Amino acid sequence: MPQAPAVIGNLVESTLGRPARVLNVDEPAAGFLELELRAASPPGGWRPGHEIQFRVAPTLGRRYTVRTVGGPDAERIGILVATDSAGPGTTWMRRLRAGTEVTVLTGRHRPLRENGTRRLYLGDSSALGTIDAYAQSGDDPVVTVEVPADAVAPLADRWPRYRFLPAADAPGDALQSWLERTDSELAGLDGALLLGHAQSIQRQRRTLIDGQILPRRAITTKPYWATGKEGL
Ligand SMILES: Cc1cc2nc3c(=O)[nH]c(=O)nc-3n(C[C@H](O)[C@H](O)[C@H](O)COP(=O)(O)OP(=O)(O)OC[C@H]3O[C@@H](n4cnc5c(N)ncnc54)[C@H](O)[C@@H]3O)c2cc1C
Repeated sequence: MPQAPAVIGNLVESTLGRPARVLNVDEPAAGFLELELRAASPPGGWRPGHEIQFRVAPTLGRRYTVRTVGGPDAERIGILVATDSAGPGTTWMRRLRAGTEVTVLTGRHRPLRENGTRRLYLGDSSALGTIDAYAQSGDDPVVTVEVPADAVAPLADRWPRYRFLPAADAPGDALQSWLERTDSELAGLDGALLLGHAQSIQRQRRTLIDGQILPRRAITTKPYWATGKEGL
Protein backbone atom coordinates (compact mmCIF):
# COMPACT_ATOMS: atom_id res chain seq x y z
CA MET A 1 0.00 0.00 0.00
CA PRO A 2 2.58 2.65 -0.96
CA GLN A 3 -0.28 4.84 -2.19
CA ALA A 4 -3.98 4.25 -1.57
CA PRO A 5 -7.13 6.30 -1.03
CA ALA A 6 -7.49 7.40 2.59
CA VAL A 7 -10.55 5.20 3.07
CA ILE A 8 -8.51 2.08 2.12
CA GLY A 9 -5.71 3.26 4.42
CA ASN A 10 -8.24 3.53 7.26
CA LEU A 11 -9.46 -0.01 6.59
CA VAL A 12 -5.91 -1.44 6.54
CA GLU A 13 -5.06 0.46 9.70
CA SER A 14 -8.13 -0.85 11.50
CA THR A 15 -7.20 -4.47 10.73
CA LEU A 16 -3.38 -4.45 10.83
CA GLY A 17 -2.61 -1.47 13.09
CA ARG A 18 -0.74 -1.98 16.39
CA PRO A 19 -0.39 0.95 18.79
CA ALA A 20 3.23 1.81 19.46
CA ARG A 21 5.30 4.36 21.33
CA VAL A 22 8.75 5.57 20.33
CA LEU A 23 11.15 4.91 23.23
CA ASN A 24 14.36 6.20 21.75
CA VAL A 25 15.77 7.78 18.59
CA ASP A 26 19.50 7.66 17.90
CA GLU A 27 21.80 8.51 14.98
CA PRO A 28 24.39 5.70 14.96
CA ALA A 29 26.12 6.99 11.79
CA ALA A 30 25.66 9.64 9.12
CA GLY A 31 22.63 8.70 7.04
CA PHE A 32 21.01 6.43 9.64
CA LEU A 33 18.39 6.66 12.37
CA GLU A 34 17.92 3.93 14.90
CA LEU A 35 14.48 3.71 16.48
CA GLU A 36 13.39 1.77 19.49
CA LEU A 37 9.65 1.29 19.96
CA ARG A 38 7.31 -0.54 22.24
CA ALA A 39 4.60 -1.95 19.95
CA ALA A 40 1.69 -4.30 20.66
CA SER A 41 2.60 -7.77 19.34
CA PRO A 42 1.06 -9.06 16.12
CA PRO A 43 -0.25 -12.66 15.87
CA GLY A 44 2.72 -15.01 16.48
CA GLY A 45 4.75 -12.23 18.15
CA TRP A 46 7.49 -9.97 16.83
CA ARG A 47 10.41 -11.56 14.97
CA PRO A 48 13.67 -10.06 13.68
CA GLY A 49 13.08 -9.46 9.97
CA HIS A 50 9.36 -8.71 10.50
CA GLU A 51 8.09 -6.41 7.73
CA ILE A 52 6.11 -3.44 8.96
CA GLN A 53 4.52 -0.39 7.47
CA PHE A 54 3.91 3.14 8.68
CA ARG A 55 1.16 5.36 7.33
CA VAL A 56 3.26 8.47 6.75
CA ALA A 57 0.34 10.44 5.27
CA PRO A 58 -3.39 9.60 4.98
CA THR A 59 -2.80 8.19 1.48
CA LEU A 60 0.83 6.98 1.80
CA GLY A 61 2.43 3.95 3.43
CA ARG A 62 6.16 3.20 3.68
CA ARG A 63 7.69 -0.17 4.54
CA TYR A 64 10.43 -0.94 7.07
CA THR A 65 11.86 -3.98 8.84
CA VAL A 66 12.28 -4.96 12.47
CA ARG A 67 16.00 -5.50 13.15
CA THR A 68 15.83 -6.48 16.82
CA VAL A 69 13.20 -7.82 19.18
CA GLY A 70 13.39 -8.03 22.94
CA GLY A 71 15.55 -6.53 25.58
CA PRO A 72 13.47 -5.81 28.64
CA ASP A 73 10.23 -7.02 27.04
CA ALA A 74 8.94 -8.92 23.99
CA GLU A 75 7.11 -5.84 22.70
CA ARG A 76 10.32 -3.85 22.26
CA ILE A 77 11.43 -3.61 18.63
CA GLY A 78 14.34 -1.86 16.92
CA ILE A 79 14.38 -0.44 13.38
CA LEU A 80 17.30 0.93 11.40
CA VAL A 81 16.27 3.65 8.96
CA ALA A 82 18.36 4.98 6.08
CA THR A 83 17.85 8.71 5.57
CA ASP A 84 19.25 9.02 2.01
CA SER A 85 15.82 9.67 0.50
CA ALA A 86 14.09 13.03 0.87
CA GLY A 87 10.69 11.40 0.41
CA PRO A 88 7.69 11.59 2.77
CA GLY A 89 8.62 8.37 4.61
CA THR A 90 12.08 9.58 5.56
CA THR A 91 10.76 13.05 6.45
CA TRP A 92 8.17 11.42 8.71
CA MET A 93 10.83 9.25 10.35
CA ARG A 94 13.05 12.26 11.03
CA ARG A 95 10.24 13.90 12.99
CA LEU A 96 9.86 11.03 15.47
CA ARG A 97 10.93 11.70 19.06
CA ALA A 98 10.93 9.64 22.26
CA GLY A 99 7.32 9.60 23.45
CA THR A 100 5.70 9.94 19.99
CA GLU A 101 2.70 7.62 19.61
CA VAL A 102 2.51 5.86 16.23
CA THR A 103 0.66 2.98 14.60
CA VAL A 104 2.65 0.07 13.20
CA LEU A 105 0.89 -1.91 10.46
CA THR A 106 1.75 -5.59 10.22
CA GLY A 107 0.44 -9.13 10.36
CA ARG A 108 2.05 -12.45 11.18
CA HIS A 109 5.77 -12.64 10.29
CA ARG A 110 6.45 -14.19 6.89
CA PRO A 111 10.23 -14.73 6.65
CA LEU A 112 12.10 -14.31 3.39
CA ARG A 113 12.98 -17.57 1.67
CA GLU A 114 16.63 -18.32 2.41
CA ASN A 115 18.72 -20.96 0.69
CA GLY A 116 21.74 -22.91 1.88
CA THR A 117 23.68 -22.36 5.07
CA ARG A 118 26.74 -20.36 3.94
CA ARG A 119 25.21 -17.23 2.52
CA LEU A 120 26.11 -14.00 0.85
CA TYR A 121 24.19 -10.90 1.97
CA LEU A 122 24.37 -7.79 -0.23
CA GLY A 123 22.51 -4.54 0.24
CA ASP A 124 22.57 -0.81 0.72
CA SER A 125 21.77 1.36 3.74
CA SER A 126 18.05 0.64 3.48
CA ALA A 127 18.77 -3.07 3.86
CA LEU A 128 21.30 -3.07 6.71
CA GLY A 129 18.66 -3.65 9.41
CA THR A 130 17.15 -6.59 7.53
CA ILE A 131 20.53 -8.08 6.69
CA ASP A 132 21.56 -7.89 10.33
CA ALA A 133 18.31 -9.60 11.35
CA TYR A 134 18.85 -12.49 8.91
CA ALA A 135 22.64 -12.87 9.05
CA GLN A 136 22.40 -13.99 12.69
CA SER A 137 21.54 -17.50 11.47
CA GLY A 138 23.67 -19.64 9.16
CA ASP A 139 27.32 -20.37 8.80
CA ASP A 140 30.03 -17.70 8.63
CA PRO A 141 28.06 -15.38 6.30
CA VAL A 142 29.69 -12.98 3.84
CA VAL A 143 28.02 -9.59 4.40
CA THR A 144 28.79 -6.54 2.25
CA VAL A 145 26.79 -3.33 2.52
CA GLU A 146 27.11 -0.09 0.55
CA VAL A 147 26.67 3.00 2.76
CA PRO A 148 27.51 6.74 2.69
CA ALA A 149 31.27 7.24 3.02
CA ASP A 150 30.97 9.01 6.40
CA ALA A 151 29.12 6.03 7.83
CA VAL A 152 31.74 3.39 6.99
CA ALA A 153 33.95 3.82 10.08
CA PRO A 154 31.24 3.95 12.77
CA LEU A 155 29.35 1.04 11.22
CA ALA A 156 32.52 -1.06 10.87
CA ASP A 157 33.25 -0.45 14.57
CA ARG A 158 29.82 -1.64 15.50
CA TRP A 159 29.66 -4.61 13.10
CA PRO A 160 33.28 -5.73 12.63
CA ARG A 161 32.25 -8.92 10.80
CA TYR A 162 30.47 -7.03 8.03
CA ARG A 163 32.20 -5.23 5.15
CA PHE A 164 31.04 -1.65 4.55
CA LEU A 165 31.81 -0.01 1.20
CA PRO A 166 31.65 3.75 0.62
CA ALA A 167 28.91 4.42 -1.94
CA ALA A 168 30.07 5.78 -5.30
CA ASP A 169 28.12 8.31 -7.38
CA ALA A 170 25.51 5.87 -8.66
CA PRO A 171 23.61 3.46 -6.39
CA GLY A 172 25.01 -0.08 -6.51
CA ASP A 173 28.28 0.80 -8.28
CA ALA A 174 30.48 0.21 -5.21
CA LEU A 175 28.86 -3.17 -4.53
CA GLN A 176 29.05 -4.14 -8.18
CA SER A 177 32.77 -3.45 -8.49
CA TRP A 178 33.44 -5.29 -5.21
CA LEU A 179 31.47 -8.27 -6.54
CA GLU A 180 33.35 -8.26 -9.84
CA ARG A 181 36.80 -8.21 -8.24
CA THR A 182 36.07 -10.67 -5.40
CA ASP A 183 36.86 -14.28 -5.98
CA SER A 184 37.99 -16.72 -3.30
CA GLU A 185 35.74 -15.21 -0.63
CA LEU A 186 32.71 -16.22 -2.70
CA ALA A 187 33.79 -19.85 -3.10
CA GLY A 188 31.68 -22.36 -1.19
CA LEU A 189 28.60 -20.17 -0.89
CA ASP A 190 25.27 -21.93 -1.27
CA GLY A 191 22.79 -19.08 -0.94
CA ALA A 192 22.42 -15.34 -1.29
CA LEU A 193 20.04 -12.61 -0.16
CA LEU A 194 20.14 -9.42 -2.27
CA LEU A 195 18.20 -6.44 -0.93
CA GLY A 196 17.87 -2.71 -1.53
CA HIS A 197 18.04 -0.76 -4.81
CA ALA A 198 16.01 -2.65 -7.43
CA GLN A 199 18.21 -1.99 -10.47
CA SER A 200 21.39 -2.88 -8.53
CA ILE A 201 19.96 -6.18 -7.33
CA GLN A 202 19.30 -7.20 -10.94
CA ARG A 203 22.96 -6.56 -11.83
CA GLN A 204 24.22 -8.43 -8.79
CA ARG A 205 22.06 -11.46 -9.51
CA ARG A 206 23.24 -11.54 -13.14
CA THR A 207 26.90 -11.38 -12.01
CA LEU A 208 26.42 -14.24 -9.54
CA ILE A 209 24.65 -16.42 -12.12
CA ASP A 210 26.91 -15.60 -15.10
CA GLY A 211 30.04 -16.07 -12.96
CA GLN A 212 28.66 -19.48 -11.90
CA ILE A 213 29.00 -18.44 -8.29
CA LEU A 214 25.41 -19.40 -7.51
CA PRO A 215 22.45 -20.77 -9.50
CA ARG A 216 19.36 -18.58 -9.82
CA ARG A 217 17.34 -20.77 -7.43
CA ALA A 218 19.84 -20.14 -4.60
CA ILE A 219 19.39 -16.37 -4.80
CA THR A 220 16.62 -14.50 -3.00
CA THR A 221 15.99 -10.88 -4.01
CA LYS A 222 13.75 -8.19 -2.59
CA PRO A 223 13.75 -4.63 -3.93
CA TYR A 224 13.34 -1.94 -1.27
CA TRP A 225 13.41 1.13 -3.52
CA ALA A 226 13.91 1.89 -7.21
CA THR A 227 15.25 4.80 -9.21
CA GLY A 228 12.30 6.79 -10.53
CA LYS A 229 9.74 5.24 -8.17
CA GLU A 230 8.14 6.50 -4.97
CA GLY A 231 7.38 3.80 -2.41
CA LEU A 232 7.55 0.08 -3.15
C1 LIG B 1 9.74 -4.79 2.51
C2 LIG B 1 10.58 -3.53 2.68
C3 LIG B 1 11.33 -3.35 3.83
C4 LIG B 1 12.11 -2.19 4.00
N1 LIG B 1 12.83 -2.05 5.15
C5 LIG B 1 13.58 -0.90 5.32
C6 LIG B 1 14.31 -0.69 6.53
O1 LIG B 1 14.28 -1.49 7.47
N2 LIG B 1 15.04 0.45 6.63
C7 LIG B 1 15.08 1.39 5.62
O2 LIG B 1 15.76 2.41 5.77
N3 LIG B 1 14.38 1.21 4.48
C8 LIG B 1 13.62 0.10 4.32
N4 LIG B 1 12.90 -0.07 3.18
C9 LIG B 1 13.03 0.96 2.13
C10 LIG B 1 12.09 2.15 2.33
O3 LIG B 1 10.75 1.72 2.42
C11 LIG B 1 12.28 3.03 1.10
O4 LIG B 1 13.56 3.60 1.08
C12 LIG B 1 11.21 4.09 0.94
O5 LIG B 1 11.11 4.37 -0.44
C13 LIG B 1 11.50 5.40 1.64
O6 LIG B 1 10.37 6.20 1.48
P1 LIG B 1 10.42 7.76 1.17
O7 LIG B 1 9.02 8.23 1.28
O8 LIG B 1 11.48 8.41 2.01
O9 LIG B 1 10.92 7.86 -0.32
P2 LIG B 1 10.02 7.63 -1.65
O10 LIG B 1 8.88 8.58 -1.70
O11 LIG B 1 9.69 6.18 -1.75
O12 LIG B 1 11.06 7.98 -2.79
C14 LIG B 1 11.48 9.34 -3.03
C15 LIG B 1 12.74 9.31 -3.87
O13 LIG B 1 13.81 8.79 -3.09
C16 LIG B 1 14.39 7.64 -3.72
N5 LIG B 1 14.69 6.69 -2.63
C17 LIG B 1 13.83 5.94 -1.90
N6 LIG B 1 14.48 5.22 -0.97
C18 LIG B 1 15.79 5.52 -1.12
C19 LIG B 1 16.98 5.09 -0.46
N7 LIG B 1 16.94 4.19 0.57
N8 LIG B 1 18.16 5.59 -0.86
C20 LIG B 1 18.24 6.50 -1.88
N9 LIG B 1 17.13 6.95 -2.55
C21 LIG B 1 15.94 6.46 -2.17
C22 LIG B 1 13.31 7.12 -4.70
O14 LIG B 1 13.91 6.49 -5.81
C23 LIG B 1 12.61 8.40 -5.09
O15 LIG B 1 13.31 9.04 -6.14
C24 LIG B 1 12.12 -1.20 2.99
C25 LIG B 1 11.36 -1.39 1.82
C26 LIG B 1 10.60 -2.54 1.66
C27 LIG B 1 9.81 -2.72 0.39
